[in-house]
Amino acid sequence: MKQIVGIVIDSLAFAREGRHLVGQLAVNDLPRVADVLADDADDGDDLRGVLSCRLSGGRNDAGKLFLLVEVSGELRLKCQRCLESLVLPLDIKSQVMLVPPGAPWPDESLADDTADAVEALAEQPVAALIEEEVLLALPVVPRHESCALPEGGDHDRRAASPFAALARLK
Ligand SMILES: [Zn+2]
Repeated sequence: MKQIVGIVIDSLAFAREGRHLVGQLAVNDLPRVADVLADDADDGDDLRGVLSCRLSGGRNDAGKLFLLVEVSGELRLKCQRCLESLVLPLDIKSQVMLVPPGAPWPDESLADDTADAVEALAEQPVAALIEEEVLLALPVVPRHESCALPEGGDHDRRAASPFAALARLK
């Protein structure tokens, strides 16, 4: 399958001509996403996996040019409660409105919540567009729906340690 990394598009032309691009992107090529992955994903690049991506250009009913970003795959994040890895399935489909250089930025209060806006670039790296949408899809605090604190009650032990130290001094 085509590799997305390194591909650069003229975003307005891409949308105007209704072009499509399908390919895959290694999670490892998304540096800002890699920051939040589970530590054990550091063992090797292969473990991080690849995302399937599709980019389509078009024009909406109001005549505005947009890009439709679709991403599927999964990421292994680190659960902030039990610190084990947490598999996050991705199924992103988001429409990004293109704001031509010099054009007024859409009013936040009027903007459609379902669409993000980005400045249209003549040389837009596709991987950066996809990374932005993946970052938006990540939970603020990744956690399993139900899990326990680490085995052996690390949390309790840490909390009790100052008292344990005092006890030893007596
Ligand atoms: Zn957990």
